Amino acid sequence: MKDERILALIDLQSVVTQKYTLYRNHEAIPDRLEQLRTEIQKAEEVLTTTRKAVEENQAQISRFHKETQQTNEKLTSLQAKLNQVKTTKEYEARQKEIKAQRERLSELDKAIQEAESKTAELTGVAEKAEQDLNSAKERVQPEIKELEAASVLYEQELGQIAEQERARRENIPGEILQRIDRLVLLRSGMAVVPVSDDCCGGCGVHLSPQVIQLAKRGLDLIQCDRCSSYIYWDDEQS
Ligand SMILES: [Zn+2]
Repeated sequence: MKDERILALIDLQSVVTQKYTLYRNHEAIPDRLEQLRTEIQKAEEVLTTTRKAVEENQAQISRFHKETQQTNEKLTSLQAKLNQVKTTKEYEARQKEIKAQRERLSELDKAIQEAESKTAELTGVAEKAEQDLNSAKERVQPEIKELEAASVLYEQELGQIAEQERARRENIPGEILQRIDRLVLLRSGMAVVPVSDDCCGGCGVHLSPQVIQLAKRGLDLIQCDRCSSYIYWDDEQS
């Protein structure tokens, strides 16, 4: 009959191994999710920027039209008052003002044409950005859903394993648990290992026949001289 503690350690190790396998399988998921979400976010940002450019261009055209209207009104009133002037000097000053208003009108006309010529291009860019966003979503969302489902499952499985681990830890004396926990951290989840081809299943060092005999008898806990893993003989394997 084997030392009960060895059986308890093997039991605990099997749960820890499951936990570490779960960790490794899940390892890449958070980064991949982040990457996929960023892809959509970037496409959304591009769409927002391009839509804003369309709006700003439209707003500018409206402002130019409004100013054109005001300038036209001013011009009309200046011309109406032209025959009320009494001196040549006053007349010249009015003419100068009229000229300035006309020049401004011509500038505004040019600016409106320029802005309007950009409208189609800007709208096209925004439409393209919308298509890009939609195709990014189509491409990426199925994988996001899949990974999110996998994450939920991961949390559930981790919860179950933690439960089992808690139960199995209760069968192991405190000071041994401390050593086990240290080994698990140091050796990526491996603390209790079988003898494998006369070697330590943890670090691979060749074990002496005496150590192997002790392991086979299983009457006491043995640790590897080199890596400190707890060693046992797996009856099913041999
Ligand atoms: Zn070892």
